[in-house]
Amino acid sequence: MINFNVPPVVGGEVEFIEDAIKDRKICGDGKYTKLCNQWFKEHTNAGGVLMTTSCTHATELAALLCDIQPGDEVIMPSYTFVSTADAFVLRGAKVVFVDIRPDTMNIDENLIEEAITDRTRAIVPVHYAGVSCEMDRIMDIARKHNLFVVEDAAQGVMSEYKGQALGTIGDIGCYSFHETKNLSMGEGGAILIKDKDKLELAEIIREKGTNRSKFFRGQIDKYTWVEAGSSYLPSELNCAYLWAQLLKADEIFSNRMAIWDRYYEELKPLENKGIISLPFVPTNCKHNAHMFYIKSKDLYERTELISYLKENGVMAVFHYIPLHSAPAGKKYGVFHGEDKFTTKESERLLRLPLYYGMNYEDQSKVIELVKLFYSRK
Ligand SMILES: *Cc1c(COP(=O)(O)O)cnc(C)c1O
Repeated sequence: MINFNVPPVVGGEVEFIEDAIKDRKICGDGKYTKLCNQWFKEHTNAGGVLMTTSCTHATELAALLCDIQPGDEVIMPSYTFVSTADAFVLRGAKVVFVDIRPDTMNIDENLIEEAITDRTRAIVPVHYAGVSCEMDRIMDIARKHNLFVVEDAAQGVMSEYKGQALGTIGDIGCYSFHETKNLSMGEGGAILIKDKDKLELAEIIREKGTNRSKFFRGQIDKYTWVEAGSSYLPSELNCAYLWAQLLKADEIFSNRMAIWDRYYEELKPLENKGIISLPFVPTNCKHNAHMFYIKSKDLYERTELISYLKENGVMAVFHYIPLHSAPAGKKYGVFHGEDKFTTKESERLLRLPLYYGMNYEDQSKVIELVKLFYSRK
């Protein structure tokens, strides 16, 4: 069976975890957490970076930093992972979904402005498949209406928009290191923060509302509880695991890119014949080969293709059921305007296996099966 995803293991993980154990330092914010924070700060040019227990938690922290209050409205696409919405819903916000663009599956930047009301507080663009949303336009709208921009860059680690790292363009960016993402620590994430005051507040909320970080830096002589907070800092063991991959991040990136490029080239003839659609990457975006998807004619054809691949030993998956049509989304959100593409395009999309170190022959098999499926139709 060719799996859909295999989490990266690059060597060095065990050694770094053992080192953390030897140091008798396995709680958060030790050597490895700091190495990871620093790596991301250097590689993204963010104002500040803090490792978190997940991207979900990074987004919850973002909602706290934006001081989202009950009744506030937050604009986002419905085609996303549920955490994008939940982080704001937990603060009492109402979620306003707008339609996506069919080419990138990202929020349609031209539909955002008409969804804004006097209760709107934030825009949450999701960089689907590590391909950036149209951030210039989104930032212009946010500035004009005085709104926060929180980037869900869960899939966008090492991606860029006009040379800027995703997650560093808005006020706050959120990364995921879940085992399905390009870089992984099992469960984990990071928050990227532009503003200095917000960064300081984030340090406090992340550490149970204490000013411990300042204390450890020697900036104050005792630490105390200064805000309502939570616990969003990951264990050293998880960061030690991730650190091994950060040392080989370029290798992981180029390996995934080679697999992505090969899928693209091999399946391009099918797109040229109008049989399937392939991912679109705007010229001002540098993507990270987070996923490779194809779009079939419709839901029926996609279901057939998934079964065909499975019968032949290939696991391919689809996602997401648009949030506005799921029970949770119906409770807390409304779709603004017409759902022209969200449902239709989500029903066509199928993700093919893609992971670091994927065997060349395995990929050949996936490609051949997709071609065979369509040649028989
Ligand atoms: C993976 C993902 C998340 C959640 O990440 P976790 O680290 O598992 O909390 C959020 N948003 C998007 C778009 C994702 O792909």
